[in-house]
Amino acid sequence: MSDGRVLLVTGGSRGIGAAVCIGAASEGWRIAVNYASNRQAAEDVVRLISKAGGSAIAIEGDVGSEDGVRAIFSTVDAAFGRLDGLVNNAGIIGSPQRVDQISPERLERMFRVNVTGAIRCAAQAVLRMSTHHGGRGGSIVNLSSVAAVLGAPGQYVDYAASKGAIDSFTVGLAREVASEGIRVNAVRPGIIDTYIHASGGLPDRARDLAPTIPMQRPGSAGEVADAILYLLSDKATYVTGAILNVSGGR
Ligand code: NAP
Repeated sequence: MSDGRVLLVTGGSRGIGAAVCIGAASEGWRIAVNYASNRQAAEDVVRLISKAGGSAIAIEGDVGSEDGVRAIFSTVDAAFGRLDGLVNNAGIIGSPQRVDQISPERLERMFRVNVTGAIRCAAQAVLRMSTHHGGRGGSIVNLSSVAAVLGAPGQYVDYAASKGAIDSFTVGLAREVASEGIRVNAVRPGIIDTYIHASGGLPDRARDLAPTIPMQRPGSAGEVADAILYLLSDKATYVTGAILNVSGGR
C-alpha cells in the first residue's frame, strides 16, 4: 500500500492514464486526475475511485502551456500539500502524413505537448520531490512509444521523434536526480486499444495492425498501466533510467 502518497497523472481522464489512476488508487495512492478539455471523463474517473473508497480530484490544465502546468501543480499543492509520483502520460498524435505535409503549427504543438509539457511537469515535480529541495523523494514515469524506435514512417515521424526525445529525457533526468531520492523511468507502449487512434483519424488502427504484432493483438490500457504501477512502486526501488517496452513483442 502507498500510505496516502499523492500521484499526479497528466491526461488521466481516459485510456492509459485513466487505467493508471484507477489502478494506483486501488493501491492506496491519492490521485490528481489531469485532463485538457473533457471534464466529464475526468469526473467519471474520480467518481469510480471515490466509489471504491479512494481519494481523487480532477484538475483541468493544458500541459502544453506554461500557465496550464503552473495551475495544475498549484491545484495539487492546495488539495494535497504533497506530491510523491508523476506519470507524464498526456500526449497527442496527428493524422497520417509524410514529413513534407506536416504543418509548422502541427509540429510545434506536437513538441509543445509531448516534449515540453512532459519536461515542464517533471521540473515542477522535481521541485516538490527532490531531497535537494527538502522533499521526500518520489517516482516519475514518462510515456514514450515503440514509435521512438520504429520511427512511424509515412504516419507520424513528428510524433515518433517527440517520443525519442522522451527516451533521452528519461535517461538524462534519471541520472540527474538519482541521488535526490527520485527515480525516473519510461514505458514504451506498442499498439494499445485506446481513443488516441481515432483522434488521429484512424479509429480501426489497433485492430488493423493486429496481424503485424508478434502477439497478434493490440494491448489494453490496463496492461500498460500495470507496467507503470510497477515502476512507480516500492517493488522498483533500484530501477531508474529504464525504458520498458510494453508492446506484445512489436
Ligand atoms: P488518449 O486515449 O488519447 O488519452 C489522452 C489523454 O491525454 C486524455 O486524458 C486527454 O484529455 C489528455 N490530454 C491530451 N492533450 C492534453 C494536454 N495538452 N494537456 C493535458 N492533457 C491532455 O491516449 P492514450 O492512448 O491513453 O495515450 C496515453 C499516452 O501513451 C500518450 O502519451 C501516448 O502518446 C502514449 N502511447 C499510446 C499508445 C497507444 O497505442 N494508445 C502507444 C504508444 C504510446 P482530454 O480528453 O481532456 O483532451
